[in-house]
Amino acid sequence: MTETPVETVTRGFIERYGHEPVGVWSAPGRVNLIGEHTDYNDGFVFPFAIDQRASVALGIRADRLIRVSSTFADEVVELHLDDLAPDAVEGWAAYALGVAWALGEFGADLAHVGGVDLHISSTVPVGAGLSSSAAIESSVALALDEHWGLGLDRPTLAKVGQLAENRVVGAPTGILDQSASLLSHADAAVFLDCRSLDAEVIPLGLVGDGLSILVIDTNVSHAHATGGYAARRASCEAGARTLGVDSLRDVRLDDLDRAASVLDDETFRRVRHIVTENQRVLDTVRTLREHGAGAIGPLLDASHVSMRDDFEITVPEVDLAVETAQAHGAIGARMTGGGFGGSAIALVIDALVPVIEREAKAAFAAQGYREPTTFVVTPSEGARRDA
Ligand code: ADP
Ligand code: MG
Repeated sequence: MTETPVETVTRGFIERYGHEPVGVWSAPGRVNLIGEHTDYNDGFVFPFAIDQRASVALGIRADRLIRVSSTFADEVVELHLDDLAPDAVEGWAAYALGVAWALGEFGADLAHVGGVDLHISSTVPVGAGLSSSAAIESSVALALDEHWGLGLDRPTLAKVGQLAENRVVGAPTGILDQSASLLSHADAAVFLDCRSLDAEVIPLGLVGDGLSILVIDTNVSHAHATGGYAARRASCEAGARTLGVDSLRDVRLDDLDRAASVLDDETFRRVRHIVTENQRVLDTVRTLREHGAGAIGPLLDASHVSMRDDFEITVPEVDLAVETAQAHGAIGARMTGGGFGGSAIALVIDALVPVIEREAKAAFAAQGYREPTTFVVTPSEGARRDA
């Protein structure tokens, strides 16, 4: 019999620490259906949680140490709760310990909480653009919030995860990933306004419509992603400054002609991606409501072209995955995630899943690319307590 995720993380906890955990929490990775790099421009995103999750087991300590371990690494990293600080930890443990620090920034009285042991086990592939990082942050945030009795709501816990990632890990990412991981529901996606943080859960109806979302993970790791991400963010900020707006959220489609006349070509194309992508998110939500998921394909395709040509965050492997899916009957396909590698998603009728999997692998082989990993993702429930 195969172990459940709760059993796996509990067993790992006992092996590391020699005592029993008091609870297990989990949080999912995510696929962004549409709305890429719009989050830090105060715009719109439309992600859903996937069925791959990070689980964290938590046990009580008599002292004030916080210790963290993971199936991912062969070490236990420990820190005194009084020593939590943005630069106190680096590497994989920064995600979990960064969350503990960030909870303090959102009002938790860390001087009066007890120490904990944490053990993490995750099924979210790392660096595939599916946000293994937010899965860790969100599961740890929910676990510590509940164990320490902090009572923070989920939108706040999303900000906690983002702050940990920005200040402790040092990645200038927006609120998209943590919101998806914390706010999602089964068979639905989260329509999030990243300015107001208003979130609406919108049914996708994939099962009823006989549709699947296939992930084609190129296995091209986004090693330069942090630098590329920061450069795109800087371009967006420069564009907003020149255009005299607080953020690119305030630039309308009608303003693009004027933008073209005052921005250099590269900055203009970065701006055009954000402005048109925001519109595509709104159009996707409307189309989904009026006509169902089967009608959103052209918006997914257009989003990919914009990321490829205007925002320039795709790589040849991701482009090939998208083109192959489209050529073999996908309703729509696009890169998902921050870019510079990672995964493509294809919206397909169920019967075509094996065809597109096979064709993608054949196309990669023909180009001499490493074999992609393909799997169907199920829009799933957000972070929760499991035991
Ligand atoms: P992703 O797109 O998967 O979020 P990131 O670079 O943002 O990629 O985050 C990946 C990092 O998250 C890993 O390098 C590691 O530091 C951390 N991480 C992911 N999964 C785990 C895990 N199971 N245990 C510990 N750390 C993890
Ligand atoms: Mg990440």
